[in-house]
Amino acid sequence: MASIQGMAHQLKVGIVGGGYAGMAAAVELTSRGIPVTVFESARQLGGRARGVLHNDTQLDNGQHLLLGCYRETLRLIELVGGNVDQDFLRLPLQLDLHGQFSLKAPHLPAPLHLLVALLTAQGLTWDERIKAARFMLALRGMDFRLAYDMTVTALLAQHGQDADLTLKLWEPLCIAALNTPIRKASAQVLLNVLRDSLNHTRADSDMLLPRIDFSALFPQRAAAYIELHGGKVFTACGIDAIVPQGDSIRLVSGQETHIFSHVICAAAPSVAAKLLSPIPALANTVMQIDCLEQQPIYTLYLQYPTDVRLPHPMIGLHQRYSQWLFDKGQIASQHGLVAAVISAEGMHQELTQEELAQKIIVELREEFGIEETPLWFKVIAEKRATFCCSPDLLRPAQQTALPNLLLAGDYTAGDYPATLEGAVLSGLRCAELLTV
Ligand SMILES: Cc1cc2nc3c(=O)[nH]c(=O)nc-3n(C[C@H](O)[C@H](O)[C@H](O)COP(=O)(O)OP(=O)(O)OC[C@H]3O[C@@H](n4cnc5c(N)ncnc54)[C@H](O)[C@@H]3O)c2cc1C
Repeated sequence: MASIQGMAHQLKVGIVGGGYAGMAAAVELTSRGIPVTVFESARQLGGRARGVLHNDTQLDNGQHLLLGCYRETLRLIELVGGNVDQDFLRLPLQLDLHGQFSLKAPHLPAPLHLLVALLTAQGLTWDERIKAARFMLALRGMDFRLAYDMTVTALLAQHGQDADLTLKLWEPLCIAALNTPIRKASAQVLLNVLRDSLNHTRADSDMLLPRIDFSALFPQRAAAYIELHGGKVFTACGIDAIVPQGDSIRLVSGQETHIFSHVICAAAPSVAAKLLSPIPALANTVMQIDCLEQQPIYTLYLQYPTDVRLPHPMIGLHQRYSQWLFDKGQIASQHGLVAAVISAEGMHQELTQEELAQKIIVELREEFGIEETPLWFKVIAEKRATFCCSPDLLRPAQQTALPNLLLAGDYTAGDYPATLEGAVLSGLRCAELLTV
């Protein structure tokens, strides 16, 4: 990008997509004094992490969780006026599969907190605890870097992690982190997440559960920040075409055309591929995007009477449809509201929403004795929630073959699986590329 060095004042950047990646790029460029215009096709900002209003109750399109090591997401939330201590319920690392398994990190420095947590985990035999602790030490010994990537199943087998240990610990962890079944998931990407969350400070492994919805948490505040500093954010304003023209790029929206020096395409992969496919120089990028397989995430919200509560704000179930349950009463004072999350592909996809809801109501009754009938339920099935994070995946770079057209999004090249932090980092990388 030598051609734009020292020319920051001449940049005029258009950003397609107001999800976490696009808004991160927009905020970072704004903070560097570069004018941006964001175009978002939906009526609200946030994309795959957005607030949803149902029956006068504020929900999200899916229950999300952040980790303490999501430094850039947390930094940007504060930059645009959020307060991480108030916006989240922060829980120290704990994994609880109701009645089957329980691991809780004690107040010790990392990584000792994890080793003690593994060695004292309830629901594992001594042999399993020692195998799990040895595995973590081995990963540390190799600096969480594999000589070659493989599936998580293969890595667990290599390190003698047997079936029970896998079912109770590694599989739930992998599905939660990568939204990909262990037989398909990249071991290296899982290790990247373990490296950043478990290996540095104790707070990195904290789990942060938002008290406000995901549009309000960052994208709406980001829009206010951008507009306060002279930028523009348009919602309900989808881009129909990206047309490179000499040194500039035209963005076409309905009857209107906007001209920019640079464009960051921060739409989700399927839309990005459609927008980029008419540009011959980007054929390779489009092919890479088209090769990405997608994985679903289902969230079932159940509104029970307000006195219903779960034993913990977040609790897992072993070998059930519900993988993780969140008590929104304890998290966000939405008493009686329970969110059940089912990540990645599985048998639940063969059920109707009504059938799935009935299964989960039965699970809540059998596991916690909740006899009440929910007043309502709402299933939100995000069928293309994230890319399938398989080994050696070729993800498109943020810099495309056209010097003034960049890509942001959780699916672009990076260490992380499809996460908020991955999306934010990709946006920051675009800002960096435009301003070095
Ligand atoms: C149900 C669910 C649960 C999840 N749970 C977690 C979790 O617990 N922790 C975590 O870290 N991550 C989680 N994720 C992943 C995380 O939400 C995503 O990685 C992240 O939101 C992706 O952001 P993005 O900006 O890359 O893409 P998107 O959010 O998809 O943003 C793209 C934006 O572009 C807009 N757009 C599309 N077409 C156009 C167009 N033509 N013109 C203009 N705009 C357009 C879209 O409307 C959208 O707003 C979850 C995802 C889902 C779906």
